[in-house]
Amino acid sequence: MLCTITLFLAFTGLCQSALIGKSYKGDDPLLQYVVNNSLREHPVLTKLRLKTMEDSSNLMMVAPEQAQFMANLAKLIESNKTIEIGMYTGYNALSLALAIPENGLVVACEINEEYGKIAKPFFIEAGVEDKIDIRIKPAAETLDELLSAGEAGTYDFVFIDADKKNYETYYEKSLQLVRKGGIVAIDNVLWGGRVINPAEGDLSSQTIDKLNKKLHKDDRIDLSMLTVADGLTLAIKR
Ligand code: CA
Repeated sequence: MLCTITLFLAFTGLCQSALIGKSYKGDDPLLQYVVNNSLREHPVLTKLRLKTMEDSSNLMMVAPEQAQFMANLAKLIESNKTIEIGMYTGYNALSLALAIPENGLVVACEINEEYGKIAKPFFIEAGVEDKIDIRIKPAAETLDELLSAGEAGTYDFVFIDADKKNYETYYEKSLQLVRKGGIVAIDNVLWGGRVINPAEGDLSSQTIDKLNKKLHKDDRIDLSMLTVADGLTLAIKR
């Protein structure tokens, strides 16, 4: 019986890591091929990635190939003002900061001061510290501050990658903050596959599933749900 349980856990664990689909976890040869033949990682991003791998929560780091995709997307729509909700150790904030113009801005929302301390020296080393405004407080407060400051409709790109149970709040505030044609990108929309049939009491899976279904019918946006990494939704404001 124990053996069966162990096998089952090992199997679901394998499935989850496959579904999470991060190139720095697991050993999917095709994903490695993609990384080997497309990733153009700035040397400071490489250093920050390796530093982040020392942290026990490193699965929270955005996959490098996904960060590069979003940086390209931000460039494509000529982003200047951006927001990241859930900065963690700053890999994606740095990637965005390197992609936007000299006078561009990344408002980086993070709740954990320690992560800010890890990120800051890398931002300085890459010479983009003036572009990244780290706000250590609950992200909803920061978004409210931006809205109160009259900044609705002035942002080009927002990436939501924080606590899942507040995703709908983040989405609604982000949609107010972006301009027409701006993008709200939402991470982990597949949540390791658990969105298919959220378990009772699994609030994160339920919230993401509910938001996915809400966005499907949301006529304020154009929509794509990509199977990149752990699932990435692009909501483009109409
Ligand atoms: Ca994530």
